[in-house]
Amino acid sequence: MAWKQGVDLANMVKEAKVWAKSGKVADYIPALAEANPDMLAVAIYQGTDHCFLAGNVEEKFTLQSISKVLSLVLVLMDLGEDVVFSKVGMEPTGDPFNSIAKLETNKPSKPLNPMINAGALAVTNMIQGSTTEERLHRLLRLVHQLTGNEKITFNEYVANSELETAYLNRSLAYFMKQHGVVEGDIEELLDLYTKQCAIEMNCMDLARIGYVLAHEGCDPITAKRIIPLHIARIVKTFMVTCGMYNASGEFAIRVGIPAKSGVSGGILGAIPHRSGIGIYSPALDEKGNSLAGIKLLEVMAERYQLSIF
Ligand code: GLU
Repeated sequence: MAWKQGVDLANMVKEAKVWAKSGKVADYIPALAEANPDMLAVAIYQGTDHCFLAGNVEEKFTLQSISKVLSLVLVLMDLGEDVVFSKVGMEPTGDPFNSIAKLETNKPSKPLNPMINAGALAVTNMIQGSTTEERLHRLLRLVHQLTGNEKITFNEYVANSELETAYLNRSLAYFMKQHGVVEGDIEELLDLYTKQCAIEMNCMDLARIGYVLAHEGCDPITAKRIIPLHIARIVKTFMVTCGMYNASGEFAIRVGIPAKSGVSGGILGAIPHRSGIGIYSPALDEKGNSLAGIKLLEVMAERYQLSIF
């Protein structure tokens, strides 16, 4: 793999990095509060010979909400659209990612989309396998295929830290169990979900995932299809409509690419037929998006004409 330092990119990173000072690392998951808020890293994967990076690119981070894209791919491949969308909707929400409000007011009580926590818990509940270990292993196998990196696993410390404090996610899951959206043991579901969220990688791995999604599910080296075309399209559409929390509309206007962020400060971008982007900067804005990461994408979008609209 020919990763090169991007000179232009390094200047944009320098410009965007000042914004990290105005953000705040997530602390509702205690382990995430230990992140260094000054980090900013970006990787652009444009095929095996054209990969550019800048900033603290070796830094590893947990995927958090970005993992929701991957679990959705897996269950859609396992069960198909009809089953999956009988449990979770397709509509964006203006509410925060961890809100319980719409679960109570919507009839039937199914989560609005798979990118908010309630929807993601319903999706994780559908991952096939007879044990939590087997389910996680199947998800990790998909991650290995998408990144070409078999060493990727989950960060146990972060997973435990979230599991011990996931009161809100527990509430969402129990609420959905009452309404028949999820089934089985809720503690086991939380265990799998927090491990899924704690899958750890660097921005180069993340950019490669973006590239596969951008290229309709095909591996950049072998051209073999990892994700069926229609599933790659579904997840990219969710990334556009719901990927950046309740700032997805503004992000679509200012940047205009399918993207998914996580409270660890990661952002996955997939520019159809062009490139995959991986960004990491843990200082967040009030909606939970990486502040410097978004600023960097805004500058990049203008400079490289990234918007798909
Ligand atoms: N594990 C996190 C949670 O469920 C993920 C949230 C996020 O990244 O938006 O709270």
